[in-house]
Amino acid sequence: ESSSVEEENNGGELKLPMEHYINFVPHKKDCVAYLTFDDGPSENTDAILDILDYYNVKATFFVIYHKDMEDKYKAIVNAGHTIALHSYSHEYSSVYAGEASFFDEMNRISDYIYEQTGVRTKLMRFPGGSSNTISRKYSRGLMKKLKKSVTERGYVYQDWNVDSRDAAKAKTPPEKLLSNVRNSIGDKKTVVVLMHDSGNKTATTVQALPEIIELFYEKGYSMEKMDINTEQIHHNW
Ligand code: ZN
Repeated sequence: ESSSVEEENNGGELKLPMEHYINFVPHKKDCVAYLTFDDGPSENTDAILDILDYYNVKATFFVIYHKDMEDKYKAIVNAGHTIALHSYSHEYSSVYAGEASFFDEMNRISDYIYEQTGVRTKLMRFPGGSSNTISRKYSRGLMKKLKKSVTERGYVYQDWNVDSRDAAKAKTPPEKLLSNVRNSIGDKKTVVVLMHDSGNKTATTVQALPEIIELFYEKGYSMEKMDINTEQIHHNW
């Protein structure tokens, strides 16, 4: 039976559940990849959850409010993934109008997630990341203040250190997303990958995801979901 497993893997295309495949890959200690999906849930959420489940991988979803998507928030949590805050509206003009407006956005999405899933979380990602410059347009100096005040209020924020660039352009070939990820892993032991569950019909995230996951397995990374105690990857520019 083990020889038939090897034969199937030799062709490069995986037909077996990933747990069989993992046994052949040496796992590097301390190498962890956190797959993160922003802006969901969406029509793509189910497909993303199916792929994660197939590969036995847990991930983190930084969600916003979407109409008529109640069951998707629950589906993310029921599948064992981390659900986290990314603002209520994702409208920069509202999120970054000022400190009060920012925390109102965070409170609203926090309450909504709690209503839908029973999960109360302080894990968050800033829309555009903590290094975003768009907020200057609405409120100069706001990011510097927010980075301090979110921490004072008990929030933990995460940026990313590997960008799939899946939201940069329409219909980016999936191989391009894969190479964007591959080319920026470098020698990082902790990798936080930015992807999107945006429901954008021209996005190719779902098509690229299986190979992105296989890449991390092949490099010996475990893929885990974040929690409030996960090492924080912050942009410092
Ligand atoms: Zn976003």
